[in-house]
Amino acid sequence: MGRYSDWLQSPHSARVWLQSSMTAAGQFAFVNPLHRLKHWVASKGKRVDCWRQRDKECFYCNKGIDQQHEYAYGIYIEKGNAEVKYLHTNLTTHTHIQNIFSELFDNNLNPCDLVFAIERKEITNLNGVRVLGYDIAKTEEEMFVPEVLRPSPLSPFQNLVRDFKWIVPEEIVVKLLEHDSKPFNLIDLFLLIKQKAPKVSDKVAKSYAVRLLENGVLDVKKAKEYRH
Ligand SMILES: [Zn+2]
Repeated sequence: MGRYSDWLQSPHSARVWLQSSMTAAGQFAFVNPLHRLKHWVASKGKRVDCWRQRDKECFYCNKGIDQQHEYAYGIYIEKGNAEVKYLHTNLTTHTHIQNIFSELFDNNLNPCDLVFAIERKEITNLNGVRVLGYDIAKTEEEMFVPEVLRPSPLSPFQNLVRDFKWIVPEEIVVKLLEHDSKPFNLIDLFLLIKQKAPKVSDKVAKSYAVRLLENGVLDVKKAKEYRH
């Protein structure tokens, strides 16, 4: 990983960013970013929320200051760390990222399974103008966070709520990850669960084994149940 920079991180929030020409590694937690409307307020030297997005009267809209679209992408920035960080992007970067995601989906690749080299650089917007944004390039790095530990990739609620519940507890699932997609019979999986979680009763361990077994293969994704 020596060729990558470290992400710059806010001490006050989960926000991360890069300075011009820096490249860092990241795995997207979701396909869809959070969309927010903002105003650039020159007198304050910062961006503020547009209240019209919350169906309220907006002082800055009323003053005729342009709305800006901001897209916050949830990303993982290191292997084994499922804490979601947020990369704020503009409309041009958002469009660019979504185009790349579409191509990957066309090739049966889930963008959220990949680690990207994310670079702060000038990219071309739809009007042919070069603006500062982020470019992303797929890498062969092993994914940082496996699917079972991520929220539903297509959920519109994404980072606001974790819209699933664990049928098999997460602490047990993490211990079973290395055996995912391997063939098991019910007894062997039951014994493995008892070995990884000795305090779980036989009855409950058996129910977990039944839940996680799909056509003779351990499928850790079945540990979760989605509420939608
Ligand atoms: Zn506004």
